[in-house]
Amino acid sequence: MSNFIKHIFQPGSDHREETPALQIISRDEHSISRSQISDAALKVLYRLHNAGYEALLVGGGVRDTLLGMSPKDFDVATDATPEQVNKLFRNSRLIGRRFKLVHVVFGREVIEVATFRAPPTDEHSDKIAATGDQGMILRDNVYGNREEDAMRRDFTINALYYNIADFSLYAYAGGWHDLKQRQLRLIGDPETRYREDPVRMLRAIRFLGKLNGFTLAPDTAAPIPMLAPLLEQIPSARMFDECLKLFLAGKACETLELLRNYQLFGHIFPGTEQCLRDDDQACELALNTMRNTDKRIQAGKSVTPYFFLASLLWPQVARVAREFESAGMAPHPALQKAADRVLAQQIRHTAIPKRFSIPMREIWELQLRLPKIQSRKARELLTHPRFRAAYDFLLLREQSGEDLGGVGKWWTRLQEDEGVPEAPRRSKSYTDEEQRPPRKRRRRPSSSQNNNQRRG
Ligand code: ATP
Ligand code: MG
Repeated sequence: MSNFIKHIFQPGSDHREETPALQIISRDEHSISRSQISDAALKVLYRLHNAGYEALLVGGGVRDTLLGMSPKDFDVATDATPEQVNKLFRNSRLIGRRFKLVHVVFGREVIEVATFRAPPTDEHSDKIAATGDQGMILRDNVYGNREEDAMRRDFTINALYYNIADFSLYAYAGGWHDLKQRQLRLIGDPETRYREDPVRMLRAIRFLGKLNGFTLAPDTAAPIPMLAPLLEQIPSARMFDECLKLFLAGKACETLELLRNYQLFGHIFPGTEQCLRDDDQACELALNTMRNTDKRIQAGKSVTPYFFLASLLWPQVARVAREFESAGMAPHPALQKAADRVLAQQIRHTAIPKRFSIPMREIWELQLRLPKIQSRKARELLTHPRFRAAYDFLLLREQSGEDLGGVGKWWTRLQEDEGVPEAPRRSKSYTDEEQRPPRKRRRRPSSSQNNNQRRG
């Protein structure tokens, strides 16, 4: 056992002491067969293998296949450098600076090929692995061997390698055992690994949501609430990508609850977290948004991130707009100014590309216009490019307990072409506090349940 592998075995920490660093599971002892691997991934594996390089499937492709799920994508690990891989495949491109990779492109399928990584220590003469003040890995381009690569991965169940040379499975750090126990366990010392890359905390939550029946190992769960503030150091563009992965995977309801329980959510959407704490209707709206998103995904329908984000940020926008209105501003400019402020605060945490923030603003703005059904111009809104999203959002607000004077129904009937119904009682803008039903007391999930880049 190499020194590096030895040091991840903490004395007294559960099964790791008895678990061999490497366990080889022969082809007849595991369930993966080549028929479950995409043709594109097989092509990449075989070409690397035939060129004399190591070629193994790793990560979600192995994990999900073993769990009887269909993998989202296939990742390949090799001892060939990114440049060597790039030379071998005409249909490939080098990507990433902080973590160099090769994407081999087959139509819509992309196979990610990563060169084995070594631990980020200064003993490497090229010193291209860099660690920041807080232990965060800034670049991770020191190449190593398969064993070292396994130790750089996040969870033990993500360090299972399917070797195309002999179809055997290589499990490191107890990954085979953990897979059978349905346990998510970080490789190495959890606190160090979260500090190296705080996004691993979000990955833990994502896998918990995605993998049925899995639990977080206690020592993997424990440091999360304490280290949650480290998320604020992650570049906002990466956080945005992670958020989409978190919420658009069909398990948004569970994910929101887990993020809140582990005190992570407030470091991603601080303004929303505040509203969720203060306002039961905001909680209801967030839950309905998640349910709605999950249902659409389960039904194979598309989900637009802007709808989802518009809804998550709405309670804040409405709150700030109310403040501006109380200071004497007219509703429309108040809403616009509130949108500016809320978006400016949010993009410090999660970058929101313009292609999403523009429609978000339109949805918000239409929340002021849709209630004005007496206006002669009301019908014109039906042709507004964002009408459908804004109308769906209006219904979601009503469903979450906001009394908008029945305008949702009015728009529904208008679209069903039953003629324009008699306008319901004049609806006031969402900013009218007295229109809201009395607040009900609801139990909020407890803030702390358990006390828990690459590409860092
Ligand atoms: P899925 O593709 O279903 O989201 P995955 O586990 O394949 O899950 P990827 O983001 O595709 O996730 O990453 C592939 C593999 O790379 C992971 O299984 C893991 O071994 C490794 N990895 C990815 N991100 C990190 C990280 N932040 N820290 C350490 N290892 C990571
Ligand atoms: Mg993957």
